[in-house]
Amino acid sequence: MLMVSLAVAIEPHPDALPNTHQPGEVDVPENVAFIVSDPRSLDGIVMDETDAVLEGAWQYSTHTPPYVGIGYLHDQKANKGQKSVTWTPDIPKSGYYEVRLSHCYNVRRSTNTPITIRHAAGMATVIINQQALPQHGRLFRSLGVFPFKAGKSGMVMVSNRGTDAGKVVIADAVQFLWSADQKPRLSRVEAPPAYIRNAKDTSKWPSLIEQGINVARDYVGNYGPTVVYVLGHEDPALNSDSFHRKLVDQYCQNRQLGSSDSLEDRKSTAGKDLVEKALRGLGDAYLSMVEDRTPPMAELVFINPHEFKDPYLQTRGIHEYMHVYQRSFPDTPTWMMEGGAEFFASYLGEKHGWANLRNDMTAYMENVHRMGESTLGIQDMEDIDQASPEVKQYYRHLAYDAGAWAFAFMIGRSESQRVSAIPKTFYPLIAEKGWEAGLTEYAKVEDKQAFYQKFTEFLKRPLEEQLLVLATLAD
Ligand SMILES: [Zn+2]
Repeated sequence: MLMVSLAVAIEPHPDALPNTHQPGEVDVPENVAFIVSDPRSLDGIVMDETDAVLEGAWQYSTHTPPYVGIGYLHDQKANKGQKSVTWTPDIPKSGYYEVRLSHCYNVRRSTNTPITIRHAAGMATVIINQQALPQHGRLFRSLGVFPFKAGKSGMVMVSNRGTDAGKVVIADAVQFLWSADQKPRLSRVEAPPAYIRNAKDTSKWPSLIEQGINVARDYVGNYGPTVVYVLGHEDPALNSDSFHRKLVDQYCQNRQLGSSDSLEDRKSTAGKDLVEKALRGLGDAYLSMVEDRTPPMAELVFINPHEFKDPYLQTRGIHEYMHVYQRSFPDTPTWMMEGGAEFFASYLGEKHGWANLRNDMTAYMENVHRMGESTLGIQDMEDIDQASPEVKQYYRHLAYDAGAWAFAFMIGRSESQRVSAIPKTFYPLIAEKGWEAGLTEYAKVEDKQAFYQKFTEFLKRPLEEQLLVLATLAD
């Protein structure tokens, strides 16, 4: 068979300094196989360094494979803060795209390279470690999913600003992949949660909430934008009209952006409900998503926190913040959301003396058994909003109690059995493949039905045997 190559030779970027390495002069020969010579062979919209605008002196190299095209650019570890590489994609269709960046990796690279993405809802800066192996083909690292408008209003920029002295910043190529998940999501952000609370409140409750939230943020990362509202006080003097007016103003203004409802309408509905709940005196905590706003926003609402038993408030902070994290990824089933949040509340809570994982899980299993003869299982709790009344009456048992166990069972079946693999591996897998394929691959089962079947069997085993799963989990 006669092979004819039709590939057009790629010309180096005219503004870049030429490569000083001979062909074949490479540091990791086994990575040569991962070079993608023709960017057009990749999915989506791919832009190589040849399509970028360069600021400052960038030098070509082929010394550290893999790379896209004829090589990659590096900043010569010089003039930190004065060099950048910018791509402006021509987006064919408005919607959500996963943005990936390719960079070769080794110990000589910067660990804190800032990548700035201008998208339809604003700007995001993601800090990446260029010493770490990229997940996709040893080449591309995912920066997240962002909305883009059709046309050339988007931008991705690699900068050497603030990067490690004596370490190299790499720029090679960017890829934009149409996301299967066309929904607004929260994302990694720099700003910490904003707290809206009564400044005159000197009680311990707001700080306990914050402690729990911060433990979860330290573990999974900072996501949002997130606003935390704390209202309803033990001291009736703090439940003042002036505080409630200020809070409702803020609450409605945050919800107002991107909405066509009038501010007055909002104050008389959502805002009023909130104040009434506070004055009724019952404890409540929940996440509500403001999705008709760009970007969407997470609200964590804590009402009458003194009604929560100490130290349950801290673990409740962890639980609610885990929902903020989950909402930064494609939809997962109700049992995975509530079960995961409960699991982490206990697991992370135990590390801070607020919970005991073994005791909590024992209590959860007792609750599961309170369902008696019911044949319902977590497979019936994939979407609480679509659930029948029969399923809904077991919301607590199926989503939270069985869910927490299903979550632990899933980690126990995974390759590493490490809890830390949930943010490091499992959720990135969901972002890439959706929850069903993610669960299948992570828990090493044929399909979700097989997982449900194995878990149903597991629920029938004696408690002592079930608790052994917790012992197999590593940090
Ligand atoms: Zn929850």
